[in-house]
Amino acid sequence: MQAVYSAAAMTNPIHAVTLYCSSSIAIDNTYFDAGRALGNAIASSGWKLVYGGNSVGLMGAVADAVRQAGGKVIGVTPQLFIDKGLDDKNCDELIVTSGMRERKALMEERGDAFIALPGGLGTLEEVFEIIVGKQLAYHNKPIVLLNTRNYFAPFLEMIERGIEHRFIKPHARQYCFVTADVEAAIGYLRNYKPPVLADKWFSSRVPSGVE
Ligand code: AMP
Repeated sequence: MQAVYSAAAMTNPIHAVTLYCSSSIAIDNTYFDAGRALGNAIASSGWKLVYGGNSVGLMGAVADAVRQAGGKVIGVTPQLFIDKGLDDKNCDELIVTSGMRERKALMEERGDAFIALPGGLGTLEEVFEIIVGKQLAYHNKPIVLLNTRNYFAPFLEMIERGIEHRFIKPHARQYCFVTADVEAAIGYLRNYKPPVLADKWFSSRVPSGVE
């Protein structure tokens, strides 16, 4: 894929937002409240939801909230989850993939923006992948971490540690917007101006012995 963006592509409005979040049902209600508020805000903005296509946990709650607010839901699910009977039967469109990798690629392609709510290993993997895609300029779409209960604090600390030790460039702080506030998240997406993406690689070594 080309790492060059035309002016037209940069000013494209948002039609669909891809969601990454937990499939767990055992989490605190605060997360469900945040998920429902987000689903409602996505639908009220006139955006479609692209998500994992399985009516489980927080993901299912957001999809239901989008539908309740009159929005459209696109599910992207691997055949494996269909075989387990987990697929969301109420999707406006359900795309079935052969596996998780194809699914992640389609979720990236179909979304004009990405929002992550708190989640487990699946969510963290998806979030890292979409951030790395931006770091390498495979895309230049907005990414939001909806930081309910400051859940992502250790994740963000890890990135800061990487910056401190020069594994990651400070520029990486611009890759995603972090907020616990749904309105702020929606506002960020609406007003997003794609940044000029600097090279990921450092141009010089730190001389040995220098911290
Ligand atoms: P986790 O955070 O580990 O609960 O994983 C949730 C994320 O991984 C979602 O954004 C999904 O795309 C994917 N995922 C993991 N487990 C499932 C599942 N049972 N149904 C649908 N998607 C899942």
